[in-house]
Amino acid sequence: MAKDNSVLRIAGTDIKPGERKTLEFPVPSLYTHTQLEMPVQVIRGKKPGPTLFVSGAIHGDEINGVEIIRRVLNQKSLSRLRGALVAIPVVNIFGFINQSRYLPDRRDLNRSFPGSDSGSLAARIAHIFLDDVVSHCTHGIDLHTAAIHRENFPHIRAVLDDEETERMAKAFGSPVILASEIIEGSLRKAVEEKGINIIVYEAGEALRFNEMAIRAGVRGVMSVMRELGMLPPPKVSRKQPFTEVAMSSTWVRAPQSGIVRLIKPLGSWVKENEVLGVVADPFGDDEKQALAPFDGVVIGKTNLPLVNEGEALFHIAKVKSRSTANRIEEFQQVLDPSLDATEPADPPVA
Ligand SMILES: [Zn+2]
Repeated sequence: MAKDNSVLRIAGTDIKPGERKTLEFPVPSLYTHTQLEMPVQVIRGKKPGPTLFVSGAIHGDEINGVEIIRRVLNQKSLSRLRGALVAIPVVNIFGFINQSRYLPDRRDLNRSFPGSDSGSLAARIAHIFLDDVVSHCTHGIDLHTAAIHRENFPHIRAVLDDEETERMAKAFGSPVILASEIIEGSLRKAVEEKGINIIVYEAGEALRFNEMAIRAGVRGVMSVMRELGMLPPPKVSRKQPFTEVAMSSTWVRAPQSGIVRLIKPLGSWVKENEVLGVVADPFGDDEKQALAPFDGVVIGKTNLPLVNEGEALFHIAKVKSRSTANRIEEFQQVLDPSLDATEPADPPVA
């Protein structure tokens, strides 16, 4: 293949073919005047190919993505990379320091895109991140977890009417893809408007590591890179695992205030009207059931058993095919750290 003479400029720095660079990308400082930098690492292969960004902690308390990116950057196969990998483990550096989803002004960075250079702190960070990093990429994977006190079963969110995005979503290998609508102000919306293909990975909970979510994330990112031709195909070619596409989802909410007993675990296949959980008073006298609104898979749930009426209990993706249940079981077995046959490169986090 021809030599790659193109210019790749990320966060104001030129990265040449074959280079690996950690960049210091300044963002507004703390009020102590302590300088802040968003950590960015770029690995550029010698041969041309896509430029993929992988971002974590846009919500500052969603830390699984940080560990996913650390493990991806340690993969030996990156020595055979084509194109470039742009890794941004902590986009919302303010939220990360404060262990918060938000910026110090309570704004949500993932509702502040595309941002502007004269707007709020969130808008300014969104703007420089989009302009100086993301807009130089051709593809992206944005890593998230559920919000505080909630947990997500590993799944992909993407708009599937674009063929390339669908290819990435399926290659990621999670059993369920949620063909979700794009939220106004999100990175995903801003990126898609620039013609960059992006998928969002949702797994685990805020402020906690989840080994299964992390493993599924690392495998997913590597397999998308193989699908895009950035890495050589696996030696033994495997059939792409079955993926169910859910066209919609809904939150089942607490029918009354009380203490909830969650019956269905994450990843369960549930039938319409099946009991998901029971909300009761402290004596257990006044019980009300939370029921599945349709056949589907539990892709999110609360981890806090104390709820007010109307609060979200279970997130159900509408899924028709019963075979999803088998596929989820298989997926869980492959990723379960307690079933490891060989010593993994990265010891599992507890
Ligand atoms: Zn998030």
